[in-house]
Amino acid sequence: MEQKIPYKIYLREEEIPTQWYNVRADMTHKPAPLINPSTGKPLKAEELEPIFCKELIKQELDNDTRWIDIPDEVLKFYKMYRPSPLVRAYFLEEALGTPAHIYYKFEGNNTSGSHKLNSAVAQAYYAKKQGLKGVTTETGAGQWGTALSMACSYFGLDCQVYMVKCSYEQKPFRREVMRTYGATVTPSPSDTTAVGRKILQEFPGTEGSLGCAISEAVESATTREGYRYELGSVLNQVLLHQTIIGLETRLAMKKYGIKPDIIIGCAGGGSNLGGFASPFIGENLRGEANYRIIAVEPASCPSFTRGKFAYDFCDTGNICPLAKMYTLGSSFIPSANHAGGLRFHGMSTILSQLYHDGAFEARAVEQTAVFEAAEKFARVEGILPAPESSHAIKVAIDEALKCKETGEAKTIVFNLTGTGYFDLSAYQQYNDGTMQDHIPTDEELEESLSKLPHID
Ligand SMILES: *Cc1c(COP(=O)(O)O)cnc(C)c1O
Repeated sequence: MEQKIPYKIYLREEEIPTQWYNVRADMTHKPAPLINPSTGKPLKAEELEPIFCKELIKQELDNDTRWIDIPDEVLKFYKMYRPSPLVRAYFLEEALGTPAHIYYKFEGNNTSGSHKLNSAVAQAYYAKKQGLKGVTTETGAGQWGTALSMACSYFGLDCQVYMVKCSYEQKPFRREVMRTYGATVTPSPSDTTAVGRKILQEFPGTEGSLGCAISEAVESATTREGYRYELGSVLNQVLLHQTIIGLETRLAMKKYGIKPDIIIGCAGGGSNLGGFASPFIGENLRGEANYRIIAVEPASCPSFTRGKFAYDFCDTGNICPLAKMYTLGSSFIPSANHAGGLRFHGMSTILSQLYHDGAFEARAVEQTAVFEAAEKFARVEGILPAPESSHAIKVAIDEALKCKETGEAKTIVFNLTGTGYFDLSAYQQYNDGTMQDHIPTDEELEESLSKLPHID
């Protein structure tokens, strides 16, 4: 007889996994190395040391160690807001009239409002352990900056955040959360860095972009004594830290003998999808399972579905290392109409390689459909989802509706990465009926892709 599954499956505190999982150990084709743009050669650890913390570089370059211990100090912090619940979406299933079983892992239950804290606390810990004074970073929508500010204040580190100018103006409340945790927040592009001044001169009146804020934060870290740069997505180390999500999910499912058929995550730079799905992808790679995995991205910034798998810069100022990834070109800036997050032009190199090798599918969705799904979800499940997370909700609903047609009781699990309380201006556009979809034309994409650096 089927065991009745509770609405929320909570692990006990002592069941929180004590190691992160490094999916690279199970990959036949390893992700391509980062390349130094001035030499055209793979970057060595020493070359990365002016930018990143030593221990994090080790994690970044480690393609072989399958399990990496989570430091006690980090585990202690995790206990403040973890384990996060795995929720059976009974209400949503009922509203959709689907035979599918839908689950979501809810990562929004902390002040930063997203999964980003899982990596922020690890990165701040390693910076502290190295004896640094502080760290710099960029933030787009503000979740990463908030998470890093919280982690830095916990470990007594200074935190300098370059915030994309349009968000700085549109999201003053997030800025105040960061300042409350002691961070300094600068709108980007700014005149505080050489690269910022150059971008301002070239594009006066620009509203900024993530790629441009990254350039400023990196310059700021490398020109300040005792500082390093930290990034909230894309990098291998970030995916590693985020595997706490997938490992907890798998453990919670095992308790009740649940086997997922479809695993869904939204993809911006790839950290939540990588962290959520990679323990499952690992099982697929080792031939132990056959899960179907779907990455969901916005149609206005479609890196997987319309990008090129090539070496590209991670930033607009072209000062960062080159990464081989699915990219729309570092000069690509999503339409100003796009309110739904996930605006980065590139993608995690690990996920890019896996996608290239056919390890998962990708789907692009338009933002009005995403907000429709968000509204449906909020009204029955009670949580106001982040626009980013709602990309995964949209595809989970689509898949559940397919089950309704075929009568199959598939098990669907998605990652609900965060809450949308600071995204209410996007919800306002949706509620007012003024939200528009924007899909870049082939010409627009060709324009930015034509500027890819020539490496191979
Ligand atoms: C940052 C963010 C994302 C996207 O980033 P990934 O690195 O692709 O996970 C998704 N959801 C929320 C709530 C976020 O804050």
